[in-house]
Order: sequence, then C-alpha cells, then structure tokens
Amino acid sequence: MRFEVSKVLDAIEARLTTDPALARAVVDLSEIVRYADLDGGRPASMLRLGLVIDALGRHVAEENVPVYAVVPRGLLSDADLTSNERMVVRRWADDGVVEVVPQVDDRVFEVAELLGLPVLTRGRGEQFQDRRPWVAEPGRLLAAVPGAGGPVLVAQVGRGEVPAVGEPSPMGRKLLSRVWGCPESTCTAYGSGGDPDSPFADMRKTTSPVSQPPPALRSGVPTCPRHGARLRDAGPRPAVEVLSVRIDGVVRRRFVVSTENPVVVGRAPEGGGVMLGQWLNDDARKWISRGHVRLALRSGELSAQDVSTNGTGIRPNGSFDDDQRITLNRDETRALGPTDVVELYANVYVGRARLWNSGGVTQPHSVMAEAPTMAIRKFER
Ligand SMILES: [Zn+2]
Repeated sequence: MRFEVSKVLDAIEARLTTDPALARAVVDLSEIVRYADLDGGRPASMLRLGLVIDALGRHVAEENVPVYAVVPRGLLSDADLTSNERMVVRRWADDGVVEVVPQVDDRVFEVAELLGLPVLTRGRGEQFQDRRPWVAEPGRLLAAVPGAGGPVLVAQVGRGEVPAVGEPSPMGRKLLSRVWGCPESTCTAYGSGGDPDSPFADMRKTTSPVSQPPPALRSGVPTCPRHGARLRDAGPRPAVEVLSVRIDGVVRRRFVVSTENPVVVGRAPEGGGVMLGQWLNDDARKWISRGHVRLALRSGELSAQDVSTNGTGIRPNGSFDDDQRITLNRDETRALGPTDVVELYANVYVGRARLWNSGGVTQPHSVMAEAPTMAIRKFER
C-alpha cells in the first residue's frame, strides 16, 4: 500500500507549481490535509490534496490543471502526517514545487490577488476583506466539499462560475516583469543557483527566472516569502506566452514558451518538449512527427516553425475555412497573431491559452488513479 501511496504523491507532485504562468488556483496545504470529511480517514492526509486537485480539474473541465500550494513550515514536522508524507513534503519544499513560509498569514490571498487566481478554501476571507475586496467576488473562493463522485468545489459567493484564466493585478504584473534575487544563498525560489564552484552547486534546484513565484510585499517592499529578506531587483524578466494543447475539443495541457526557451510540440519530441502521443488516435499518430512544430518567442513575437515530415497548418484567427488555411513546410516559420491556431492534424491544435476558456473534459484523468481503495472509501456509500 505504501508503494501505491508513493505513486499517488508522485502524480500529485506533477500537478504542483509556483509558476505564475501555469498555476490555476492557490491552496494552503495545511488546511487541505485536514479535510477529514473528504475521506473519513486520519486527522491529516496528503492524499486529500489529490482529491482537491481532481475537484479543480472537474471544475474547470480541463486535464492537468496545476495548483500553487503554500506550506507553513510547521507542516514539515506535523505529527499527524505519516513519516513518508513528511518526507515527501520536505522534498517538495527543497525542490521548490511548493512554497514554504514561516506562517501562512495572508500569503495565499496575496498570491491569489497578484496572479488573479481563485483560492481553494473553506474560509470566507472576511479578515482580509478590507484590504482585498475581491474575496467577495463570485468564484474567487472555492470550497472543496464531499460530493457524489468525489469532492466538488462550491463557490463561496456566486453560483460556481468557472474562474477566468488568471489575469495578474496591476501590482502583480509589475512584480512579474522583474527577476528577483534573495540574499539567502540556499533560496530555491529567488536564488541565482549559488556559487557555481561550490561542490553542492549541482545538487541545488533553483527556480528558473522565467517562472519565479510572485514576491511577497511587506510595507510595499518585495520580500522573499520564505526567508523574509528584502529581494534585489536582478533585471527584467524574460517574456512568456502561455499556450494550450487542444485535442478533439479537450484542453489537454498548458505550457509556457519564453524568450529563453523555445518549445517543440509533437508525438514524442526528443530532449523534452510537449508530448502528444498519449492523446492521439492512430491516424493522428501516423501523421504527426515525433517533433512536429517549434514555438518560439522573440521580441514579443510568437512564431511557429515546422520541423515535421508532413507540414504544419496555421488557421488565421482560428478560422475553419480551409481556403484560409496556411501550410508551413519543413523549416518554414510564421509569426502567430493573437488568435491564430496551429493545426498539427485534424482536431489537434495549439494556441494561446486564453483562446479556449472551456476545457471540454467531463472526467479529467485523476491523480488518485493509483490510490488505495481506503482513500476513496467515502464515495462508495
Ligand atoms: Zn529566499
């Protein structure tokens, strides 16, 4: 059973991010792990984070939806978790996949405000309402409660509107336009990787400047949420575009293209990239090359370059008029307008994430697929 739990925690880990471009909701992990009514089990369980992540996927009807988890330091030694769970959450903290803070205070709400994301919480945020009036807006606070097919998210205000794709606040936008440096040499979130000559340099994971989490603001000063130290402005941040893969009407995943990191999308790109193989039917698998199209961002311009055997289609403004469809042949490149859609095969599309608000998935793949039956006992009543 322990092996199964580890596999679930791995599946959950793949859905954790502090990348402002990818996160879709913010949670306080110490709150979520205590939702004992979700499974009727122990006082605290990390598996409940998986149940809540699944609920978010169903709520936005999308596959592979990541969450931004804030973790108070005390949880790393919380005796209500198993030693295995404590070990895993410490590893997540070291790797920077979650954000560790001395106390949560209003950090969850601060992140939600700066990034324009909903908070998954059973609280109503009354204590923050003076400073953060948006907590009373429909769909911004979503409570995970038991439901017939697993936990569901219920809006604290409104009727369960699907939260919009995050639009950072003006302050958030300002903070995210810069790279920040923490004076603490071990800082994963705002580190420079430390001394490259240090024997430990390779062992330390540091968040890429492109995906640094938003700084905390203390009296208006950008501050490291983990170390409480004032952050140094280390220059402009590389621009990013968030793109979505949509196959047969379903948003399968989002990914980030930055000025520093072009991304290859295909059936199974070599050396990383976005792999589509698992979602393709036989005909699409035969047509689409391992590496099919390369997306790059330069001087604010997003472009697609065909690197395939069969060519890449561009549908200007997402038009389905075949007379307007443009074919890029091998090595040809074209700038993508804001609403242009890249077509790798019929019904296999890549476009800017904001083009497709509705995910179109009725039952997203669960991170709990490997969970021991104990974890889902509650739903078999
Ligand atoms: Zn720091």
